[in-house]
Amino acid sequence: MVRRAIWILAACLVSCGALQAQLTPANPAELPRYDLTLEFDDVTHIVKFRDRVTWTNTSTKPTRDLVFNFYPLYRVPAEDSFLLAKTLELLRLDPSYGFDGRGSCGRIDSVLAVDNGTKTALTFTRKSDNQTSFCVELFNEVAPGASVTVELTGSVVLPNKQGRWGHWKGVSYLTNSLPVLSFHDDRGWHDVPFVPWHQPFWNEAGIYTAEIHLPKHQKLACSAEVASEEALANGWKKLRTKPFVGRDFAIVASADFVEHITSVKVPDGRTIAVKCLAHPEHDHYAKEMSIIAAEAIQTYSQWLGGFPYEQFTIVESYFGWNGNECGGLIMIDERVFDMPHLARGYVEYLVSHETCHQWFYNVLGTNGYSETVMDEGLATYFTHRFLDRKRGRNNDLLTWPVGNTWLPNIRRENYRFASWYGAMKRSDAPAAAGALPEFGHIIRLFSGAYDRGSKTFELIETRMGEAAFMDFTRELMKKYAFCVISIEQYKAELIAYGGPQSEGPWTELFRRWMYSEGLVDWSVDSVSVNNAGPRQMRGDRIQPGKPVRVEVKLSQHREYSEATTLGVQFRNGDGFPVRIPLDGRTLPPGMDEHDVEIVPASDGKGAVVRFTVPQEPTQISVDPDRVLLDANLGNNDWVRKPRVQVLPFYTFIHDTDLTNDYDRWNISAGPWFFGQFMPDPWYTRTSLLGARVGAYRTQTFAGGAYVALRPDYRDLVVGVDGVFDHFPTPKTQVGFNVEQRIAGPFDSDGEQTATRAVLYGRYIFQLGSSLYQPPISYVDLFTTYQDNFLPNAREVGSGSVRPDWMWLNGLHYRLNLYTPYWNAERGGWLDLVYAGGTADLNGRVATHQLRGEAAIARKLPDGLGWFSDIRWVGRGVAQGAVPGRGQFFALGGSQLYRGFDLQERQGSALWVANVEARMPVFRDVRWNFVDRILGVRNVDLAAFYDVGAIYNNGDRINNTAHAVGAGLRVDLAFFSFIERAVVRFDVAKTVNAATPVQFWFGVQQPF
Ligand SMILES: [Zn+2]
Repeated sequence: MVRRAIWILAACLVSCGALQAQLTPANPAELPRYDLTLEFDDVTHIVKFRDRVTWTNTSTKPTRDLVFNFYPLYRVPAEDSFLLAKTLELLRLDPSYGFDGRGSCGRIDSVLAVDNGTKTALTFTRKSDNQTSFCVELFNEVAPGASVTVELTGSVVLPNKQGRWGHWKGVSYLTNSLPVLSFHDDRGWHDVPFVPWHQPFWNEAGIYTAEIHLPKHQKLACSAEVASEEALANGWKKLRTKPFVGRDFAIVASADFVEHITSVKVPDGRTIAVKCLAHPEHDHYAKEMSIIAAEAIQTYSQWLGGFPYEQFTIVESYFGWNGNECGGLIMIDERVFDMPHLARGYVEYLVSHETCHQWFYNVLGTNGYSETVMDEGLATYFTHRFLDRKRGRNNDLLTWPVGNTWLPNIRRENYRFASWYGAMKRSDAPAAAGALPEFGHIIRLFSGAYDRGSKTFELIETRMGEAAFMDFTRELMKKYAFCVISIEQYKAELIAYGGPQSEGPWTELFRRWMYSEGLVDWSVDSVSVNNAGPRQMRGDRIQPGKPVRVEVKLSQHREYSEATTLGVQFRNGDGFPVRIPLDGRTLPPGMDEHDVEIVPASDGKGAVVRFTVPQEPTQISVDPDRVLLDANLGNNDWVRKPRVQVLPFYTFIHDTDLTNDYDRWNISAGPWFFGQFMPDPWYTRTSLLGARVGAYRTQTFAGGAYVALRPDYRDLVVGVDGVFDHFPTPKTQVGFNVEQRIAGPFDSDGEQTATRAVLYGRYIFQLGSSLYQPPISYVDLFTTYQDNFLPNAREVGSGSVRPDWMWLNGLHYRLNLYTPYWNAERGGWLDLVYAGGTADLNGRVATHQLRGEAAIARKLPDGLGWFSDIRWVGRGVAQGAVPGRGQFFALGGSQLYRGFDLQERQGSALWVANVEARMPVFRDVRWNFVDRILGVRNVDLAAFYDVGAIYNNGDRINNTAHAVGAGLRVDLAFFSFIERAVVRFDVAKTVNAATPVQFWFGVQQPF
């Protein structure tokens, strides 16, 4: 509440502050004009356009051609198909929903030269080196300062796909999809290729007018304000828009939309209408988003210059990623509207970010293809700056009901840095600046342009001071309003603002933080207070009124000894009232009383700092505001306190990067539930129900100790487990698990102290995006000991022996290209294991074991209606071991041969083949539960056939078994788009054996 009150006060001070004039184009006469006539048909799903384009040559060279980007010409190149499918999987979208295999939805019918009312056809050709741009040959040269007008006619077919252009569930969208002139300067035209996984757009803002014809029941959201609406005779209507200046012209329409309008008074005195068009069932977030955007517009208008329009539109659409900026309008994905209401903190972050793009992308244009950081880095920085002031640093994004605050929460800074720390630890965190193809995929782009980029702008503000930085930014926005700025122009503006003496420091800052990958790692090595010696974990002793002399030893371990601050705290949350600058310059006034003495380290990487403060500090931190991109924030504080939480219910969701503090150890304890989703080559950990104490450090370690019941074995065990991530090299992990039975099995005979243990090292070739699945591709080296946990077999070969225990050393390789991983529609997998060691078969013997598995999944092609959603999956498994008399394997189980249980037949070699058809019963539904935390998305019916045989000493045990079965697969979404998983229920019967019908329940598809 207090924080909220302070915020309201601050907002009031802001609105009473200096008046920021509305942002208008710096050079309106030079901007291209697009006079559009659009005809949108919701039956044929075709948008026809006529576009009269007037272009003025602002360069110093004449030109004879015009080059347009027209993105709907795009067709996915074969080599990009896998990357695109994986990107959609990362967004938790079935790839077939967004992946348009046919593509090429755009068509240009004619280009006419328009001169004093006469129209003459011009030749136009698609560029050979860029499939989404075309070149128009003009009759005459356009001299510098001269203009030319051409008229384009053509159409865009809206495919039944989610994305920038298309239609889905009654919503039609056409964004960044009309022909737009590419960027032009003295070096000519700069058309850049389309990149479907980000905004590769690089063009001047245009002045748009539009006449839009559409069926009258359609409700339209568009970039511009509608000036007039007129009913037409054929059941259609005609809308005319007011002139609009922006980076693109977007339209989104649906007959189902309900419009919410709120308004906000901006600092220049105008009132801006904020509209949100959404489905009626998304009323809650439609209202919330309007409020969030209104608050953001008010603050950004004050900080960055007045909002350029009289209205702002938020519209619900289907495109897979969460939010998308257009000129004058933002699209928010349907799945964000469908989030739990308690996730308002996340929605606030997202809408504030997309709204900020009206300044960085739309007003201040960017080369989105080569310098993404100039809009994403700035928008990310100003969004966090805004929310830091509005909600406090690292605020919770989820608001659990009162009394349930122990439930796993996601904090904003943890969310922001979890993936960056992962990239950094993998040695794969790129520089902030770079072209999209250099980043290669969205995760690297986020680490570089968004995460590192936003910290670069924070560093620039810290260097300049708040007042100067905001003044600089406002002047920049005015000067470059509706123009395009490059990184080098931005740097030149900083130098011009700071004077010639600032050139060296700015050049160095840009070299380090914009163009390079290096980092800092400041560390508080020791602190002595009145020579009383260092201490750890004790921040409680305060002796008011007794001055003390403090000595702090600091060191810096990475590439850059970037200037920073040493902060001294006397009580928790006092904001570090004593701050000593460590930038090698003279100390600011007010430092005299602290008698500061700084002795730089001889190698320049660190210092000894001595000072006097009126009482004993409780905390001393280097870079207390966390401005720098520090490789290890855990050593920045003198008193290193872990985050400790005692939980009434501890689940694996508490042990993830998103739910833990990224800059320290997290200790959790409580009653615990664990379930493993994928088998490991050594043994599969079963479900566990008990109590656990765990320790977690983002991208470093996860582990704990537990006592738990194992329902599968009906026993009680104690155990420890742990994984050291990125250890000992960036792409490796070391993990272990030791588990020993201490009681049970409770209703059958068995060893009283059965034990199993594993130690493994893993090299990861390719990570996946799932929060619970193993990587896409990796290799394991392992050693494992296990007593026998298999149940006694009913049917075995003659002379076969049940191993008492085994000690194996092995090698495992896995490649899993299933996409999406929760319900594959393409891809396959390969899994290979070799293990060798000692087994006890009534005496110790050497054993060697091999296992190979291959699977493939396919969806039927688009265009077959219901049949298109059918998926076929096939798999083969072969397993063999010596000595041949050992009962090492069971022909049965929910993930191998579903016609038998584990007890039925056991032997030393087996093969199994499975084929399964997964047929849609309910597709793309929204059956939500528990405030939409959990939702059903698809329900499939599976029909399958399993066949296999098992051998003892080379002899088949009984016959080759054939089983048929059916199953139900429920595809679930958690938090709308955070995670996906399939729950299944299968029934199978072996047709040629007198064995019972088997029932199986599980998480994930069987193969
Ligand atoms: Zn963005």
